[in-house]
Amino acid sequence: MFKAILMEGSRGDQQVSLASVDEAQLPEGDVTVEVAYSTLNYKDALAITGRAPIAKSYPMVPGIDLSGTVTESANPAFSAGDQVVLNGWGVGEKHWGGLAQKARLSGDWLIPLQAPFTPRQAMAIGTAGYTAMLCVIALEKHGVTPDSGDILVTGATGGVGSVAIAILAKLGYSVTAVTGRSEEAAYLKSLGARQILDRAELSGPGKPLARETWAGAIDVAGGQVLANVCAGMKYGGVVAACGLAAGMDFPATVAPFILRGVTLCGVDSVMAPKADRLYAWKRLSEDLSPDLLDSMITEVAFEDAIEAAGQLMDGKLRGRIVIPVAG
Ligand code: NDP
Repeated sequence: MFKAILMEGSRGDQQVSLASVDEAQLPEGDVTVEVAYSTLNYKDALAITGRAPIAKSYPMVPGIDLSGTVTESANPAFSAGDQVVLNGWGVGEKHWGGLAQKARLSGDWLIPLQAPFTPRQAMAIGTAGYTAMLCVIALEKHGVTPDSGDILVTGATGGVGSVAIAILAKLGYSVTAVTGRSEEAAYLKSLGARQILDRAELSGPGKPLARETWAGAIDVAGGQVLANVCAGMKYGGVVAACGLAAGMDFPATVAPFILRGVTLCGVDSVMAPKADRLYAWKRLSEDLSPDLLDSMITEVAFEDAIEAAGQLMDGKLRGRIVIPVAG
């Protein structure tokens, strides 16, 4: 038997508990992992609170991330004793996830734990941090450099935002952090933000084109915020869009794209090819200070993870949530 957060019932009528689960119930897969740490991402919080239909079947174990040690493997790429990390691939949505002491998965979804990170630090990064890195790489691919000008990061106190700020600052970019929590200004500055912008400035309906301000942007908000971010980009600016914390809609005009040559690049971490993942994790090991990473961590006991999901949704947690799940 092992402990897992178990979502039972059906969509719209789910019950979530920390349950004792028989190992025989583990889903199919060619690698079994003893999970050491998991984390709470925005998507996990949506799943656990039922605020969005993340679970595609029931019963489901949530958790789109895990780190741990392989205990059994029929996959030639992994052997018992290997330390591994998993991000995404529909795990915690379609396949039992990381908020459990054991997971059985396809070895094709796993990557080796990237040195010098510990399993705990890998979950402090998690999907949010790896997505932040994918966003920075997207800006770089489109020619944005520290000399291009200021970079805007929305959802700054959240997981993607916090890691994005730390990486960009280390790479020498001047970062403006957008937050709805002005009381967290000191935290954001400690990560490397040069300026803080009140989220309210970007939340209301704006003009098709605003003053040319930012050379690049990483947006976790979507909705009206993303529309205003695009409108405020400099000529040739690049926006990496990865989230929907403000909404799924996009009430924008084409003006920034056809009059200022702004590029809007979508970033997806869930199905990103393995080569992109390995590159992102290698870059994280070079471009993210472990001390800053540690300063972003809120550790939550496994027993308290369900409650913490509600707190994350209500904007009461900041940075990255790490959950030790080992027995
Ligand atoms: P967190 O909950 O850690 O952070 C989200 C942050 O968004 C909050 O802390 C808050 O920051 C800000 N926010 C909340 N509500 C609003 C709003 N109405 N308008 C603008 N900003 C708001 O989540 P993550 O960082 O883990 O994820 C952020 C987003 O990115 C989510 O939508 C998530 O689904 C998405 N995502 C997408 C991925 C992909 O593969 N495309 C992968 C990972 C995440 P503050 O209080 O500082 O304003």
